Amino acid sequence: MQRTLVLLKPDTVQRSLIGTLVSRFEQKGLKIAGLKMMNMTPALCDEHYSHMTSKPFYPAILSFMTCGPIVAIAIEGHDAVSVVRKMCGLTAESEWVSGTIRGDYARSIDNNLIHSSDSEETAKVEVARFFQDNELFTYTRSLNS
Ligand code: GDP
Repeated sequence: MQRTLVLLKPDTVQRSLIGTLVSRFEQKGLKIAGLKMMNMTPALCDEHYSHMTSKPFYPAILSFMTCGPIVAIAIEGHDAVSVVRKMCGLTAESEWVSGTIRGDYARSIDNNLIHSSDSEETAKVEVARFFQDNELFTYTRSLNS
């Protein structure tokens, strides 16, 4: 069983798509292990996107990610990192496919609604970055995925 991190970016909140996107993961059978609305501070954004801070478009990412609240979600399930990543869709707009979250709802690479961890190692670091241990929940469902 793996845990992965999803961030619903400010455009998801602004476009009232929180429930729609959370539903996708629930309907897939994945389990919500933690969920909270929060503001991303510039320091947290720099840390989270440390692999992007030297890019010319990083100021736009920083401005966007701090322009309003986000929703952080820890998602649990079999092979959750890869399953969630596939459900979100690829980074480049030209590779967006219908049936993925970005393919169905996102407007541009700058307003692409959602982040998800890209590997098991990254997921561990990212879940710990956004959630304290006491904000993560273990519970049983009658039919576990
Ligand atoms: P992700 O895992 O698909 O979100 O992609 P990355 O971690 O590589 O990039 C983080 C975020 O930076 C993406 O979600 C995009 O919003 C943005 N980004 C990545 N590459 C580009 C680019 O070439 N141009 C622009 N404008 N934004 C980009």
